[in-house]
Amino acid sequence: LKLDQLEKIFLDTAYIRTSGTDEELRCANYISDVCRSWGLEPRLEAFPVAMSHIFEAHLYADGVEVPCKGFKLSGNADLEAPFLYLPTLDAYSLTQVKGKIVLVDTGMGYWTYHDLLDAGAAGFITYDGNVNYPDEDIDQKELRPYVSLGRLIPGVNVNAKTARALVTNDTQSVRIVLRQAEYRGESHNVVLDLPGEVDEWIVLTAHYDSVPLSVGTYDNMTGSVGLLGIAEAFKDKPHRYGLRFVWCGSEERGLLGSKAYVAAHEAEWGKFALNINLDMIGSTMGKFIACCTTEEKLVHYIEYLSQEKVFPDAARTGVYSSDSTPFADKGIPALSFARLTGPATGTIHNRYDTIAILKMSRVQEDIDFICAFTERMANAAKLPVSREIPQEMKDKLDVYLSRKRDDHK
Ligand SMILES: [Zn+2]
Repeated sequence: LKLDQLEKIFLDTAYIRTSGTDEELRCANYISDVCRSWGLEPRLEAFPVAMSHIFEAHLYADGVEVPCKGFKLSGNADLEAPFLYLPTLDAYSLTQVKGKIVLVDTGMGYWTYHDLLDAGAAGFITYDGNVNYPDEDIDQKELRPYVSLGRLIPGVNVNAKTARALVTNDTQSVRIVLRQAEYRGESHNVVLDLPGEVDEWIVLTAHYDSVPLSVGTYDNMTGSVGLLGIAEAFKDKPHRYGLRFVWCGSEERGLLGSKAYVAAHEAEWGKFALNINLDMIGSTMGKFIACCTTEEKLVHYIEYLSQEKVFPDAARTGVYSSDSTPFADKGIPALSFARLTGPATGTIHNRYDTIAILKMSRVQEDIDFICAFTERMANAAKLPVSREIPQEMKDKLDVYLSRKRDDHK
């Protein structure tokens, strides 16, 4: 892809495309159309997603309404209760929670939610944004079904400025009013096959959905464009392993697209030799990383390759919070490539994630390096990465997927 083609794709897709919406499908079709313009024939694979329509959401602090958005999928309520700000969820703090509406500094992850529920919390408030940003944006959050497991207390999300004001003002009592209707929606993975000489596959993934406040150019049209660039580079080139490209929907709601893809293709797990995932590349600033949920040898291979290609790269083993994880969890070696920029030069999941974060020549360099790696793997007589996921990685997957608590936290 040439620099102007890269730029055009980013501009064409600079709209919010959240899971299960028409805009998400529009982007899936856009990606398909780019593939078709090269004579390739991708397919859409649909999967169900829980959706909610919020009719009203209000938060009153000591009788005065403050701006909020209701948590989707957290039920219906009209509830007034004492307010409590809880910066930590240590054992003592949790004894203070019963019957209260609790403000926390974190998102509603699995353990946070169940700790609050078990301690008897009546409702919860989260916040995001940044007190130093000029906007008053409030993200549209949801209580993920795999977090709530059907046990619902109502929640709202507020801007960081509001959260701080609630504490500054010594708020005594808050009221949450939340009315919503849940329904079943559909999201899509876009799948493209470039068959190789053998019926074994390298699966390349990148999510194309965004969060509600963001056009998600850096997170993650960059990775999606990266897959397009790799597909273009290999479409007329023979290769030994098959290359399967999966543009995943609904990643931002907890890797729903890649989880659905992996679950729907269980019969093929034995044929999936490697997963290469791209989530956020091409930023003007920041270092390029490879996070390998594999044996450690792959880290050193990538380090050597980066020296050979004069392409600075920091490779490590670990679990990356993206679509590589469901593959690794099923015993398929998986890695994620990313270029991580600091919060001062690029922030995600808000209105500031735009093409301004990117440098087109950097996008191209990053794609070129990932292409070089893919070419080595795809033409290996026998792909060298062991199918054994080390125990340490399995432990990290257990923590990431909330099957075990992190002992270190
Ligand atoms: Zn992402």
